Amino acid sequence: MTSIQAFLETLHERYQPLSDGTVAQYIPELAKVDPDRFAISIVTVDGQRFQVGDSQPFTIQSISKVFTYGLALADHGRDRLLKKVGVEPTGDPFNSLIRLDEASKRPDNPMVNAGAIATTSLLKGNDPTERLNRLLEMFRQYVDREVHVDISTFMSERVSGHRNRAIAHLMRNFNMIDEHIEETLDLYYQQCSLLVTCEDLAMMAATLANQGRQPLSGVQVVSPDHIRDILSVMYTCGMYNFAGEWAYRVGIPAKSGVSGGIMAVVPNQAGIAVFSPRLDKNGNSVRGLKVFEELSRTYGFHLFDLSMGRCRFSQALKASEK
Ligand code: GLU
Repeated sequence: MTSIQAFLETLHERYQPLSDGTVAQYIPELAKVDPDRFAISIVTVDGQRFQVGDSQPFTIQSISKVFTYGLALADHGRDRLLKKVGVEPTGDPFNSLIRLDEASKRPDNPMVNAGAIATTSLLKGNDPTERLNRLLEMFRQYVDREVHVDISTFMSERVSGHRNRAIAHLMRNFNMIDEHIEETLDLYYQQCSLLVTCEDLAMMAATLANQGRQPLSGVQVVSPDHIRDILSVMYTCGMYNFAGEWAYRVGIPAKSGVSGGIMAVVPNQAGIAVFSPRLDKNGNSVRGLKVFEELSRTYGFHLFDLSMGRCRFSQALKASEK
């Protein structure tokens, strides 16, 4: 069997020429990125790393929503959080204005902007600085190094974010978030503007795959009790309007972001990330989707593949050790 590193190199070479899709255009910081950047990373739950391609940072964007949800679960527990943010997938775009449940006024789920803004508004802390520091500390623990916010991206998101501001005001109208709307939006944009590498994303996913324990440092970053909740919303809501197709074709919990990252969790085995900025009409990385389909098929990652498929990754890991 080919080693994992060799397979990643083959996939990188195979999909590098694929130039379908367009880079996100809504702020200059995303529009000016080199569209040919391309990286694939796998980190296993015991800390083995496989990486090919671009190793430079990019902004995490919507993938941050997964981790903020984890922190809000730690701050409030599942039941209280469920009163504020639902867990129902939507067939609407991620930044839809209208999705508040008629009766409860809750946003559908924490992976769409409305739900993510509501989640961020619930993070504990005495003031904006303390809340930001708590978020940064959490991300630092996931990646096991210092992390930084890209200030230009943050400023641009903030200046151009009229739609998110409208969503936040609508939720304020229904008393779903408190009156500190601008502070909440700032924190939301700061979390989206966090700089990560593809390997960082794989490491964060590996932490989730490892029941919340960071594979290198051994730190319990998120309680094992919340992993089930986090992975469930990733599985049903993590890939924009493609979540159902993704579940069918690839079959593992994942989250996508407009900068071109896709991060996925293979429970008890590994975290995987692909970064390539050209997006399809749903906002998912074009090359990312291709790479994940092949990885899932080759290693039998699909959660409902009940054949012997699951063992193929362990076999490939053994082959990689030789
Ligand atoms: N900062 C983006 C927004 O809220 C995140 C978009 C995304 O990655 O889906 O519009």
